[in-house]
Order: sequence, then C-alpha cells, then structure tokens
Amino acid sequence: MVAGEGRKMKIEYIDLRSLVQLDACTRCGECTKWCPVYDAEGDEKLSPRGKNQLIKKFIRGRYGLFSSLFARKSFDAENIHQCTICGQCKFVCPVELDTPELWENIREAMVEENGVLEAHRPLLTSIKNYDNPWQQPRSARTRWAKKDKLVARDPTKEWVDVLYYVGCTASYDPVISKVAQLTYKILSLAGVNFGILGRDESCCGSTAKRVGELTLFRAQARKNLEIFNQTGAETILTSCAGCFKTIYQDYPRIGKLSPKVMHTIQWVATMLSEKELKINQIKKTITYHDPCHLGRHTGIYDAPRQILSMIGANLVEMDRHGEKSRCCGAGGGVSTAFPDLKSKLAMQRVKDAEETGAEILTTACPFCYQSLLGAVKDMGSKIKVMDLLELVWMSIGSLG
Ligand code: SF4
Ligand code: SF4
Repeated sequence: MVAGEGRKMKIEYIDLRSLVQLDACTRCGECTKWCPVYDAEGDEKLSPRGKNQLIKKFIRGRYGLFSSLFARKSFDAENIHQCTICGQCKFVCPVELDTPELWENIREAMVEENGVLEAHRPLLTSIKNYDNPWQQPRSARTRWAKKDKLVARDPTKEWVDVLYYVGCTASYDPVISKVAQLTYKILSLAGVNFGILGRDESCCGSTAKRVGELTLFRAQARKNLEIFNQTGAETILTSCAGCFKTIYQDYPRIGKLSPKVMHTIQWVATMLSEKELKINQIKKTITYHDPCHLGRHTGIYDAPRQILSMIGANLVEMDRHGEKSRCCGAGGGVSTAFPDLKSKLAMQRVKDAEETGAEILTTACPFCYQSLLGAVKDMGSKIKVMDLLELVWMSIGSLG
C-alpha cells in the first residue's frame, strides 16, 4: 500500500456547505478542462470532477442508507492532495462551487481521522517546534537583515505605522531573502516608519491550512493575531502571496485583526503613483505570472501591471493570465509531497512564458519564484525569473 491509500475521513468535520457543494456538482467537466493537474497527468481521478465523485462515493459507502451496496470504505488520500488549491476550478464552474474551500475541508476531515500525510509531517512538526516550516532556529529569522547590517524597529517596543511581516521563506531562504532586503530598502527609501518582529515573528500557518492541519493553523493564527493587534501598527505589509491570502482572508475568520493588510505590490503601486520618486525606465519585455493566492484568491490583478507600466516595462501577457493564470505547481502542499508533479506544472508555466517572447518572467510570491526558477534551470530556458520588487528596485533604487 502506498502512503495515503486506504484513508478515511471524519464526516462530522465536513461542513454542511461542503456536503451541499458535493451534491450540486453536475459532472459537466468544465473544471477538468482547466485544471493544471489534470492537464499534466491526464488522470480523471485527479481532476476536480473526479475528486468530487470519489468523495461522494466514499461518503455514501460509509454513511449512506445503501452503504453496504456502495461499499467504498476508504479512498486514496493522494488523489485529494495532488491539487495545488489553485482555485482555477472555482472560476470556471458554471454552478459556482467553491472547490478550493471544499478540498481544504475534505483534507481537514481526513487529517482528523488519519493524521497528516507522511510527506507533510516534517514541515508541520517544524512549524510546531520552531515557528517556521524549514527546521530553522528562531534566532536565524533575521539573518537576512544582519547580513546587510539593516536595522529595523521592533514594533513590540517602538511605535510604527507599518509592520513588515517578512514570512518564513523570505526570512530563511538565502535566495529569496533578497525580497526581504529589497522590501526593507524600498520602505526606507520611501521614508516609511516601519518595523519587523524578528524572532517574535511566527509562521502564518498557510501551509498547515492548505494541507488540512487546522488545529495547528488556528494556533498560529491566534498567536499572530495577538501580537499584530498589540503592536498598534496601522498596516501589515507582506511580500509573500501565501502569507497575504492567509492573514487577509483566513485570519478574520479566527479573530479580530486591527491593522489593514496589504501585499507589498499593492503598497508599491500606490507609493509610486503618489511619491515623486525618479523612475528609471526599464525598457525590457516582461511577462507577469499571477500567483494564485494573489490573483484568483484575493483579486489582485491590477497593482502588478500598474507597477510594470510605471517603470516602463513592455508587458506581454501569457495566454493564460489573470483569472485564467496557470498555477506554478508549488501550492497546497504539492511542492513537498509531489515534487515531480510540481516540476511538471512549473515547466508548463515556463513554456507559457517563453511563448510570449519575454526576456523576463516576473512574479510576486516566493513560492512561485522558487518553482519557476527551478523549472527554468531544469529546462535550460533562457528566460530570466525575477521578483517584481527586484524590478522596482532596479528602477528607483539608484535614483531615489
Ligand atoms: S465545473 Fe463544477 S459542476 Fe462541472 S464538474 Fe466541475 S465542479 Fe462539477
Ligand atoms: S484547485 Fe486547481 S489543481 Fe486543484 S482541482 Fe482545482 S483546478 Fe485542479
């Protein structure tokens, strides 16, 4: 038996809305046409429609009036986890089923019955023990700042307008930490009174939520809500699409969040249009990859495009962009549990980008950046992957 086979779920953890949604699926297959996982694997069981059918059969088999006839007592959890929670199926479903919410709810019900998927365990244990998924000590959380002798205020001791929530990946990953350094520099250049929590910053819990470990997610959310509210900051800024979606959309369902939450690119778009900074025009042909958590999940499509326009880039769109943007493959726990699937999705996205003829593929999420960069290397592609903040800094950094 492979890991994940023969798993069950606690039906009492499936909320009524999810049960109604499952029942409302007409099996039309529109979602299947757009699902990046189905596109990569061609397996109906992995399509949104196929997953719905599997779950329905399981529920009937275990709990229904005719359960002995249907007799499906368990199913392969990997089918449910081979999904990046990209949300594409929700956007094309004619009956408007909230499939990402459904998948997360089903994962929660499975975790309650069987525990987490083995491949996710180290990540989740690390969040519990170290407040980050990367098994790194809390004391190393500000290594990115120390390296460049950047000193930020401590919002638990000093008054700040903006709390910059760095996130685990930008804090610890030596490549992605440039995003944290650039955010720091751009905030400083704009004269913003900001601070970081340093070793008091805890993982937002996004990964735990996406893979169904809701107890851990709620614990992280409560811990963060308490400290965010205590600081008195008016705004929380984050440069990670996953942290942004989680804090902006999922936290208010857990408790009161006083500061407003913005992704860095929303703030940069406003700052560039309001401040009189000298802008060095970047005359490059650039394509923008919409991170699922920033685009479909939270509706931020315009701000990155406004920035690209303001810095003089020649934006060329991929066929699939905006609401139809193809997922890079990194979300929903797929990157950790199914790295080959992640690579297939990322390579397809790089092919989409290559077709535009762009020199640069830019995005605004560390997970997308890592995933796309890995695919570019694997494919030997000539396209250059850059975080949008790198382009912003190229444009304003030396001339500010
Ligand atoms: S598009 Fe919606 S209704 Fe049609 S198969 Fe997919 S989930 Fe079901
Ligand atoms: S959320 Fe994305 S990957 Fe998951 S089933 Fe829907 S379209 Fe496929």
